[in-house]
Amino acid sequence: MTEREAIVRADKAHVWHPYTAMGRYVNEADPLVLVRASGAYVHDADGRRYLDANASWWVAVLGHAHPRLVEALRRQSETMPHVALAGVTHEPAARLAEELVAVAPDGLSRVFYSDDGSTAVEAAMKMALHYRHLRGERRTRFLALDGAFHGETLGCASLGGVELFRRPFAGVVIDCLHAPSPATGDDDGAARALEAMIRLVESEGDSLAAVVVEPLVQGASGMRMYPASYLRELARVCRAHDVLWIADEVFTGYGRTGTMWACDHADVSPDLLCTAKGFSGGMLPMGATLVSERVFAPFLEGGATFHYGHSFCGNPLGAAVAREVLAIFREERILAQAAEKHATIAAAFERFRELPGVVRTRSLGMIGALDLAESSSYLGTIGWRVYAEALQRGAWLRPLGDTVYVTPPLTISSAELDELLAIVEASVRAAVG
Ligand SMILES: *Cc1c(COP(=O)(O)O)cnc(C)c1O
Repeated sequence: MTEREAIVRADKAHVWHPYTAMGRYVNEADPLVLVRASGAYVHDADGRRYLDANASWWVAVLGHAHPRLVEALRRQSETMPHVALAGVTHEPAARLAEELVAVAPDGLSRVFYSDDGSTAVEAAMKMALHYRHLRGERRTRFLALDGAFHGETLGCASLGGVELFRRPFAGVVIDCLHAPSPATGDDDGAARALEAMIRLVESEGDSLAAVVVEPLVQGASGMRMYPASYLRELARVCRAHDVLWIADEVFTGYGRTGTMWACDHADVSPDLLCTAKGFSGGMLPMGATLVSERVFAPFLEGGATFHYGHSFCGNPLGAAVAREVLAIFREERILAQAAEKHATIAAAFERFRELPGVVRTRSLGMIGALDLAESSSYLGTIGWRVYAEALQRGAWLRPLGDTVYVTPPLTISSAELDELLAIVEASVRAAVG
């Protein structure tokens, strides 16, 4: 048995994979066995390399194994890999909070660290509930969007608006209203969704702990996009009705939509903002919830304690790497140098509209997506045919059902991006034609 075969055997005997139909996987799959990742590429045990079309589930915004991040991790691991953060502090956590607030939307001034995107959202939900509790208000429900994805804990899953993901937990998840998604692909649909959202905030605001949205792009439900004007109006109506709103920027943050935060497109500041994924350069699991002074005030002046915290809150390794990510964004002008690539992605996906089988396409910043079915479904299979074709051509292009998309590292070179887009085109032609 080769080393590769031994790995696959151990894996199939013991590893339960995320979002994977395990019966099919164990019986039929010949999985990629990845041994190395560098820049925009992952390399497998057979010596082949693949462009990482989605930056490994959207996390590797600076590519894999960025030398400055590797060095920051090494340095920190030699001095202090981990200590708890309850009532003590250290340079990585303190400086990172200061540097993060400096680039965050105006008004967000406090940083609560957690382990990943799900816990960043979970913390935001508990903060909103606790805030209302301290004010003696019974506001315990949340309002989210159809098609929303906010993470995996039961709290986050309650916000989720993807029916398929919610079904097994029906009756257990917490009380959450859902408003129609504005990501309908046309202005009329977005306007109707906005009216529905406004009506819900007006009629249910008294019972709401918070409204939670993925700003501008609903990632997991198929890279569905909606206009910045919706976000501006949502911020306005929430303010008018004293309803907190939470921007889940776990996917959209760190330049994915072209600006540092998707909220920047609408020039709005949420009451709470969640970040993860690109936050630690996709290198270590780490998340943060940014909080406005208004929400923090009862905990500062009122003397309340937020009885919440994960073992690895403010983990020095993650914090040191996250600081280096921000330094790279500043010093290497990551957002500015990506601008040309936004245009390349936009032009390509405009062109892809003419490909056989393509129903519609869209793009924003470093995201391009195309649908291969009228109502694209997560259980659709056409996307997986494109996936198989793309693997043969040197790209790892995991779809969202019938939606094929790219979210490459922001640092992908122009030549690599051209190659990736050519592979998308050829693979769609081969799979559909
Ligand atoms: C991925 C994602 C999450 C969950 O983050 P994890 O790090 O996987 O827990 C939450 N919200 C959004 C918008 C996401 O895309």
